[in-house]
Amino acid sequence: MNYYSLNNIAPTTTFENAVIKGLAPDRGLYFPENITPLDASFFENIENLSNEDIAFEAIKQFISPEIPEAVLKTIVSETLSFDFPVVKLTESISTLELFHGPTMAFKDVGARFMARCLGYFNKNNSNEVTVLVATSGDTGGAVANGFLGVKGVRVVILYPSGKVSNIQEKQLTTLGQNITALEVEGTFDDCQDMVKKAFLDDDLTSLMQLTSANSINVARWLPQLFYFMFAYKQLKHQYKDIVFSVPSGNFGNVCAGMIAQKLGLPIKHFIASNNDNNVVTRYLESNSYDPKPSVQTVSNAMDVGNPSNFIRIQAIYNNEFDTLKSNLSSYSFTDEETKQALDEIYKTTNYIADPHGAVGYLGSKSYLKTNPEAHCVFLETAHPTKFLDVVKEVIDAEIPLPPQIKSVIDKQKVATDIKDYSEFKAFLTQL
Ligand SMILES: *Cc1c(COP(=O)(O)O)cnc(C)c1O
Repeated sequence: MNYYSLNNIAPTTTFENAVIKGLAPDRGLYFPENITPLDASFFENIENLSNEDIAFEAIKQFISPEIPEAVLKTIVSETLSFDFPVVKLTESISTLELFHGPTMAFKDVGARFMARCLGYFNKNNSNEVTVLVATSGDTGGAVANGFLGVKGVRVVILYPSGKVSNIQEKQLTTLGQNITALEVEGTFDDCQDMVKKAFLDDDLTSLMQLTSANSINVARWLPQLFYFMFAYKQLKHQYKDIVFSVPSGNFGNVCAGMIAQKLGLPIKHFIASNNDNNVVTRYLESNSYDPKPSVQTVSNAMDVGNPSNFIRIQAIYNNEFDTLKSNLSSYSFTDEETKQALDEIYKTTNYIADPHGAVGYLGSKSYLKTNPEAHCVFLETAHPTKFLDVVKEVIDAEIPLPPQIKSVIDKQKVATDIKDYSEFKAFLTQL
């Protein structure tokens, strides 16, 4: 599959190049040239297929022929070595648990898939690739874990000091080997700006091959389309109008869901559920896109002021506002509402959500007010123990730590302090 730049200046390129470069030379995000719907029989029989088979069939067209099918099968099955259960909470609301991977964040799938693709492309290459990643919380851990020990790949993670949870920080600062963490005095937006600046910096790009493991990278973004298929497989015989509520930050996840829909998956509608970083909610109300600097919330992985994947969503809908609006609703919720939702979910269903999932739950409820016939599935994007401070404040219950979390808690943090771009650049130069 070839990919074109959404800035439309750079030439189209291969999957391999799109993965290695991250961004196009004209700074645009890459987008697949074609999306060919899968056979109707695929969806009719989906409940008879394994997750590996579903994922392989769904992603094949975007990856081949550059990765041979046998290799792709292995990559897919290694990526998906855990469960993706749907848990029914009420007659109208279920949750799709995406937190059963090694760092208990939904980003594990994209990170593991991308790491293996890059590892494959790099296996005969003596030049190291340096992956730069800015994280507002969960990306760092998932990428660190997914890329640990991958030959020929070095990972540098930037995270905002004091703005990620204790467990998230441990997950991204304790692995060592080819993974380095930089603790930035500033916000997530500052981290993301530094990464963007590095990609544009000729001094650096002439010195090293830089790429991104944020969802701008097609190999991290596209595998997220699997989730929606896995949920459909579990729900198709029970509900007709399936609607996904996606707790959204950079909008990679919901955008991948829209690709699944383009492939023919019968999804009725999407809900982008936001915290106070709500540029898309405001856009759908006003048809005016007005990004603001990010503000800190209790669902910190969604503290994004200017979501990088929104341009891909616009491409899917040919920049037609009304078409987008007929397929996507968006609501935003305050921290107070999020905490009340954690409490409500627990009291009414005995389910312990995390703050991001709680925002997704609230989005489902808002949508159901005017669409009572729908069945809403909100994505549980992280395990509640990753946000224990917030969850404990609301829910008075023993929440046992899963083994994935226990294993990092007592490890020693190793991070380098970074104040500004010049320090970041100096750090990269001496690698
Ligand atoms: C990254 C993340 C999100 C937001 O996903 P996007 O694809 O950036 O919209 C939501 N919840 C959690 C827990 C995350 O880590």
